[in-house]
Amino acid sequence: MRIGIIGAGVAGSVLAEMLIGQPGITVDIYDRRQPGEAEETGTGLNVGPNALKALRLHLPARHAALRTASLPWTRWTIALADGAPLFDLPLLEVAEEPGIRLRWAELYRLLREPSAGLTHYGVELVGVEEDWAGRLVPVLEVADGTRLLPRGYDLLVGGDGRYSALRVLTAGAPAPVFHGIAMSRLLVPQADDCPYDDYGQWFNGNARLLSYRLPGGAAYIAGGFPLPSPEAEIPAEAKTAAFQRALYLPGLAEPCPAVAWMAAQLAEGAEAIHWARLQDAPLCRSAAAGRVLFLGDAAHAMVPTLGQGATQAIEDGVIAGALLRRGGGAEDVAAWRDTRIAFVRRFSLEATDTMFPGADPVAGSIAKREPEFLAKLRRLYTDVPGPEEFAPARA
Ligand SMILES: Cc1cc2nc3c(=O)[nH]c(=O)nc-3n(C[C@H](O)[C@H](O)[C@H](O)COP(=O)(O)OP(=O)(O)OC[C@H]3O[C@@H](n4cnc5c(N)ncnc54)[C@H](O)[C@@H]3O)c2cc1C
Repeated sequence: MRIGIIGAGVAGSVLAEMLIGQPGITVDIYDRRQPGEAEETGTGLNVGPNALKALRLHLPARHAALRTASLPWTRWTIALADGAPLFDLPLLEVAEEPGIRLRWAELYRLLREPSAGLTHYGVELVGVEEDWAGRLVPVLEVADGTRLLPRGYDLLVGGDGRYSALRVLTAGAPAPVFHGIAMSRLLVPQADDCPYDDYGQWFNGNARLLSYRLPGGAAYIAGGFPLPSPEAEIPAEAKTAAFQRALYLPGLAEPCPAVAWMAAQLAEGAEAIHWARLQDAPLCRSAAAGRVLFLGDAAHAMVPTLGQGATQAIEDGVIAGALLRRGGGAEDVAAWRDTRIAFVRRFSLEATDTMFPGADPVAGSIAKREPEFLAKLRRLYTDVPGPEEFAPARA
């Protein structure tokens, strides 16, 4: 079986490693960027314990490499901007191992390493054709406009992210759903004076800061605040240093040291902030009668509230790999993954409750210690099948 993977991102790279050296399977990977060139690589991310579990069970060498290059994510705290604590959860209460905190560039570098020899960088998917045998042929463009058409593939995998060209070409452009929340993201490269370490959130009304330290003395800060309506654009004024400095500071009380530090960083680094609006897109797992399979954001871009975007892309790559190894196809991936993805997407949106206008962040944060929310977190962080569940379908 010839498999062509579009996108050497999170899902594409994990899938490729799962398939390397499998009898009867050949894999090629195509990515439009050169290694180290990705736009978002300046930022940081937290990867959930469920992705670490998937790697530990299926790709232990990748698990070890990520652990070595990262800091452990062991705790989730929530407080008000004046420091009043609302929620404090050691992750091992609901997970089998900690998550991780690391830089984007590191995640990509480590996930891509095993399949580097199979990857063609600097080629962008711009079309899809069929060969005489009905196999799909990706039309790839290099920087000077030259087009390349490799041999046909039995399966084309869309690991090309949120704005997947493969999805647009074969299943139509997904309509994004906006949720009326602006999001800012900033990397502070030198954060020696950062007064906290592990993953925390701080509320000032419905405006929320989220931050943690990263390896190499850096810190990552993500802000979020409500917009006037679900479809509203982020006003230019909200992106100014003065607005950012004031947004998270409590009106009457003194800010706690963590919030004071983050507000100063956001104001100082206002020009470098990466802006986005909270959004997701409808799930689409396959196209072209099962000859195209979508993984990660190409299949199911989701809201980032629980840090599950890259986390689910890793789960997707691992489980799709286990299924393709035993002769499965796109419909098997849908059967194994789509119920879980529906749960993760619902839960991620539900956990965003405290950021919507009018919601009570105090009551909403305290409710996250209730058994019902913790049971969902436990399901999120542990419900990952091991290799024994993917024994060969046929003897
Ligand atoms: C700033 C930021 C912070 C985030 N923080 C977190 C977090 O803390 N935790 C978390 O779990 N998730 C986080 N996410 C979400 C996460 O980034 C995505 O969910 C995840 O990267 C999806 O992985 P993927 O493999 O589907 O796509 P990607 O990782 O986006 O990879 C797509 C790949 O496809 C390539 N590509 C795209 N188009 C083409 C084309 N036409 N031809 C060839 N190649 C193409 C790209 O160059 C890229 O290498 C964050 C996202 C952003 C932007």
